[in-house]
Amino acid sequence: MPVMINKKLGKCPFCEDGNIEVRKIQINAKPTKLYACTNAHWVFEHDICELSEDSTCSYRIFANQFLAWNKKSIGENEIRKVLEEEQVKVRLFSSKTKTEYFKWAIIDKEYGLSIVWDIDITNEEE
Ligand SMILES: [Zn+2]
Repeated sequence: MPVMINKKLGKCPFCEDGNIEVRKIQINAKPTKLYACTNAHWVFEHDICELSEDSTCSYRIFANQFLAWNKKSIGENEIRKVLEEEQVKVRLFSSKTKTEYFKWAIIDKEYGLSIVWDIDITNEEE
């Protein structure tokens, strides 16, 4: 299998011709992934990322954006699913009760994805 550097995971939900692609980045010297629209060009400098002026879309999802809920990385399959179905089940972990739990994550224009806290997913169907 050839190594694909710019894998396309699905259509951008916020612009006409954009696709969401995988980009490898570093935050605080730790490698992580950014899932960004092909029409969004991000410039990274000293852990601050800025949208370049030629960008026509700003949609992106940081793979580590649910780190606060102990989800280290959002996987490519999860991104594919949320782009297709507008929601994806994510596994989170409570450090207080030491148990894992599941929530829906949905597309959020500003934050990439956001967790639907109001809905409990009690049993895992897969
Ligand atoms: Zn876009």
